Amino acid sequence: VPFDQLEGFIWLNGEFVKWADAKIHVLSHGLHYASAVFEGERAYGGEIFKLTEHTERLHESARILGFTIPWSVQEIDDACRELLARQGFADAYVRPIAWRGSELMGVSAQNNRINLAIAIWQWPSYFDPEQRLKGIRLDMAEYRRPDPRTAPSKSKAAGLYMICTLSKHAAEAKGYADAMMLDWRGQVAEATGANIFFVKDGVLHTPKPDCFLDGITRRTVIDLARRRGLEVVERAIMPEELEGFEQCFLCGTAAEVTPVSEIGPYRFEVGEITRLLMNDYANEVRPELRVAAQ
Ligand code: PMP
Repeated sequence: VPFDQLEGFIWLNGEFVKWADAKIHVLSHGLHYASAVFEGERAYGGEIFKLTEHTERLHESARILGFTIPWSVQEIDDACRELLARQGFADAYVRPIAWRGSELMGVSAQNNRINLAIAIWQWPSYFDPEQRLKGIRLDMAEYRRPDPRTAPSKSKAAGLYMICTLSKHAAEAKGYADAMMLDWRGQVAEATGANIFFVKDGVLHTPKPDCFLDGITRRTVIDLARRRGLEVVERAIMPEELEGFEQCFLCGTAAEVTPVSEIGPYRFEVGEITRLLMNDYANEVRPELRVAAQ
């Protein structure tokens, strides 16, 4: 079934619209000029993990692109929860998106309507489940995360995903699951839809998110690692250093914690710390287990 023909409802500008009828005009500014920001969230056991943090980031992403979403954080949180209940899923992926509308064509869109939609569907595993356990293979992307002076890199803006899709397609064409992107300085940045961590001598190393998304999962993993008494170092990582790392994993809402076995010429093991954090994250996101663990 094509994605636009699924069952159920989409929340569109305050209304629950039948899934296949949730359409917009071809002259939408968001389509022509990428004036769109979105979120990716996951529900576990009927509860959306860190929902308000995601909704606040959606508001902030819009603010960075110069527009205000005409629904409050509370109203968007409520809409997400109500839609999840309507869709009837316990575990699901939640995608809110806000964009400038089709009232006026041209680069300037000062008075175009700001639209908001929320879709919820079942999206079990971002990477092939079997590959996930053995570790996925990453290509080295040719595109680099842009200098913050070149693009609004703190916004989860649709336009920034152009280089992600290009990099992911190039990787897939060579048989890889995803690609690792460097930043504009040549430092390790992230994958095309997830943040990256490395392990060496029991210590976690991850790049400072100064020109790419500071993932909510990334912050959760840092917190979980520190609760385990593990040291986490946020620093500039050069690609040559990959040689010396023993383990590597990606993390993100969709990817959760996914081990990496290979990046270009470098090899990693799915080691104890990676497995520990996969497990801790799986426990953290489940409301029933989170309570039991505390
Ligand atoms: N980087 C990029 C480019 C992403 O698309 C995502 C997924 N939203 C992440 C990092 C991870 O962010 P989060 O943990 O908040 O999902």
